[in-house]
Amino acid sequence: MTYEVIVLAAGQGKRMGASKNKQLIEINQIPMIVHTLLVFEKDNWCERIILVGAPLELDILASLVNEYGLAKVDCITPGGKERQHSVYEGLKNVSSEEAIVLIHDGARPFIMIDAIHRLVEKVSVYGAAIVAVPVKDTIKKVENEIVTETVDRKSLWAVQTPQAFRLSTIQAAHDKALAEGMLGTDDASLVEYAGGFVSIVPGDYDNIKITTQEDLYFAKAILEKRKAQGGN
Ligand code: C5P
Repeated sequence: MTYEVIVLAAGQGKRMGASKNKQLIEINQIPMIVHTLLVFEKDNWCERIILVGAPLELDILASLVNEYGLAKVDCITPGGKERQHSVYEGLKNVSSEEAIVLIHDGARPFIMIDAIHRLVEKVSVYGAAIVAVPVKDTIKKVENEIVTETVDRKSLWAVQTPQAFRLSTIQAAHDKALAEGMLGTDDASLVEYAGGFVSIVPGDYDNIKITTQEDLYFAKAILEKRKAQGGN
């Protein structure tokens, strides 16, 4: 089984409070985006990587791709204002009409290849599949600092990326969202909005999105753990 992946790195990452794009921050001497791209570079099922970057950072990304020998990255394209717009730009560059397309946040460097494979196997059946983990905390709805409801945790999943789709499914969902001014916080929500099915693949709690400075401590700890386990 094979897929093409859109890796998103066009966000500003303001919550990181760094002087540069968070995806260029080094974790153990390697830029975050390179950690992420290496996962797909090493995965035999990955045919092609489409990298979406900020318009002014495309040269920096291109030189990282050269420096680290990331041969599967054969398209580096500018993103848009919101994440959804960046995905839309990435979709324009998928090479095959029949492709299974994965969409992945550049800020999630710890996705594991076996989770990717479970996802690709599932999307072949359902047309849309996402990686998620059961919510561990108790979640409450709150209005004006007063609790209005405790939501039953059994039905709650925290959603991650990659999210995988048949190209026709995700392209139609994005076109509809664009036409109707719908802005979702992930790609699967656009498929749901368009009336499609989305299935879940249980993922891994290590697959964090690096968002704030504290997350860099977790990132280093995850790398140490993997090194101790004999990974990279
Ligand atoms: O900001 P946040 O971390 O939630 O963004 C998730 C991912 O989407 C990041 O990898 C970020 O670079 C990407 N993104 C993008 N274009 C935007 C906004 C976010 O590619 N306009």
